[in-house]
Amino acid sequence: MPSSEGAVKVHHLVKAPENAPDSVRIRESWDATEPAVFYTTPELLPDGTPCTAATLIFRTKGCVWWWKSGCTFCGYFNDVRDDVTLDDVMAQWEHCKRELNDFEGIDMVKVYTSGTFFEDRENPPEWQEAILRETHEKGLHLIVEARAEMCTPEKMEWVAERHPGCVVAIGLEAYDDEVLKFHCNKGFSTKQWHRAIETLRANDLGVKTYLLFKPPFMSEGDALNHCVEWIRAIAHLSDEVSVNPMNIQRRTIVDRLFRNREYRPPWLWSLVDMIERVHPVDGRLIVHPTAAGKIRGAHNCGKCDREVAAAIERYSVSLDLAEFTGLDCECRKRWRCEVELDTTIPVPLGVGLDRRGDDVEALMSP
Ligand code: SF4
Ligand SMILES: [Zn+2]
Repeated sequence: MPSSEGAVKVHHLVKAPENAPDSVRIRESWDATEPAVFYTTPELLPDGTPCTAATLIFRTKGCVWWWKSGCTFCGYFNDVRDDVTLDDVMAQWEHCKRELNDFEGIDMVKVYTSGTFFEDRENPPEWQEAILRETHEKGLHLIVEARAEMCTPEKMEWVAERHPGCVVAIGLEAYDDEVLKFHCNKGFSTKQWHRAIETLRANDLGVKTYLLFKPPFMSEGDALNHCVEWIRAIAHLSDEVSVNPMNIQRRTIVDRLFRNREYRPPWLWSLVDMIERVHPVDGRLIVHPTAAGKIRGAHNCGKCDREVAAAIERYSVSLDLAEFTGLDCECRKRWRCEVELDTTIPVPLGVGLDRRGDDVEALMSP
């Protein structure tokens, strides 16, 4: 209906407003001098040597794109607050160093800021500089995250001077401008991503690319075929491609669809099929299904989830298809049938039913 106030973006109708009492209560409940979370995991250095990596997730002012609009699946806003100060982020960094024994026994550090690490509106430059320099001095392999359009020649030169060879991970999500715009609301194009890659290479920085498996408004079959194509198209341009199967974060657009039973997170079988179809990949292919087996993460029937997810995780380290030998379950037939129907009959959102509740009831509900 036409309104005197003009058009309203769907995004603003669906997303919880930043100042809604509930959002404020969640954000005010945390201590800005402590990171959101930090942990260590086994990893591989670029030359393939096994090592221990520390992942540090900081509480920051958050992504400028999210404050303006935001990606349809991104729930990082739960860890951000616009009053986080330089002292706060410095205290979080000190906290991580203290708790991790000044990175003793650790060779790799992943610094995640719910946005772009080196964007000055999000993170104070003094703090960026401290992390870049200190990790370089300690000989730690550093990974930071960024949006493509933020990788400007000036800033990348600045980063490379302080930590030569560090890796910049960009959430490209989809190598398809239509999907970026209408499914992800990503706010940048594949052209901008190409430009970012050139700038990173020109400064001898490492490149990691994230793809999103099954963005909203897409069937399982389409997600599988698209992701296979995207990996083939971009793998040679990245040192690593990391596929993130959708996990539904609270109060996002995809969460709204999920609660309305209009979106099912991907099947773990689709991930196995995707890996088998693209293997071997130029560089390294990593697939980490977050919340695997849970109803909000990539899942199968409930009986085989643990085993299939473990094989996918092992593949990300071994890069050996033998990890999938002998895997099977009765639900695999159901998955195959769903993917075939998705790609042969005209159902844009797919035929898939989720694992919650009774199938017959779901089909009968209006
Ligand atoms: S660019 Fe990244 S942090 Fe920003 S809204 Fe999108 S997914 Fe979230
Ligand atoms: Zn199963």
